[in-house]
Amino acid sequence: MRNRGFEKLLKVTLLVGIILACILGSYRLVSAVMDRMDASKHADSTETAGSSTVQSGEGDVNASVAGGNPSSNLIKTSAVADSAKNEPDTSKYNVSDNWSLILINVDHPYPEGYLPNVTTVDNGQQTDVRCASELTQMLADCRSAGYDPLVISGYRNHDEQILDFNSMTQMYVSAGYSEEDARAKTAESVAIPGTSEHEAALSVDIGSEHNTAVDSSQDNEAVQEWLHNNCWKYGYVLRYPEGKEDVTKIIYESWHYRYVGVTAAKVMYDENLCLEEYLAKYVEPFTSLEELDRQAMETLGLTYTGQTAAEA
Ligand SMILES: [Zn+2]
Repeated sequence: MRNRGFEKLLKVTLLVGIILACILGSYRLVSAVMDRMDASKHADSTETAGSSTVQSGEGDVNASVAGGNPSSNLIKTSAVADSAKNEPDTSKYNVSDNWSLILINVDHPYPEGYLPNVTTVDNGQQTDVRCASELTQMLADCRSAGYDPLVISGYRNHDEQILDFNSMTQMYVSAGYSEEDARAKTAESVAIPGTSEHEAALSVDIGSEHNTAVDSSQDNEAVQEWLHNNCWKYGYVLRYPEGKEDVTKIIYESWHYRYVGVTAAKVMYDENLCLEEYLAKYVEPFTSLEELDRQAMETLGLTYTGQTAAEA
């Protein structure tokens, strides 16, 4: 009796085990199939974890570990790599934002004759009409969050930039620097005329009602922390970030924000790229810097001569 009872118990246990295994097995099979379907459906969507899978048009595969699910990363990688051969990944580079992506730095001055259409946004300061509503919204949301942002400097025309540059150079000369050293020292914090984003009306220096200084006293202001963390949602980036001085050739400026469009701003924020790095990685495989200049001029109804403002 005891043996039979034990045998019966064993059979029941085995049966229950088999049933459980079946249920678990089919559940795993179904979820694996659903995962695959899901992965191919969203192959082009933005995903931070998978963001490093494809670089430029070379289909450069770089780390599929971060995503956690190797099978879905494999599907994603090959799908994007195929399309990236001829056209940009639209989640990383939106060609309709080309007008806002022009590179302006010491090595690449803006095009000769570039004259933006500007409008007044805040504190009497002006910006390009095409990003004015984004800037206004960002300031409004920042104020709603309890801060007191204030645009200290927006659009500056070429002559104003020359005045700004010369007055700081003069300051260094008065302090004992040679003319040449004074110009070099000035260029670390004031863009050489023809190479300032303020002249293109795409950048603004933002301080606060209680601190209007455009210097390192902004670094630890709470308003800057809010802006650093949120500006990308409005298409803005911190243009001269800390740690990128070698690339931007400009010192860390915790107050200088540049409009680049929402797509680029999000990628630059997520991947910690400055504009030079973003352009090299996601734009230049498809559109040259000169082509960006040409399009930026044409969208303003201006003629592109191939000359730069610094040469003119
Ligand atoms: Zn600035």
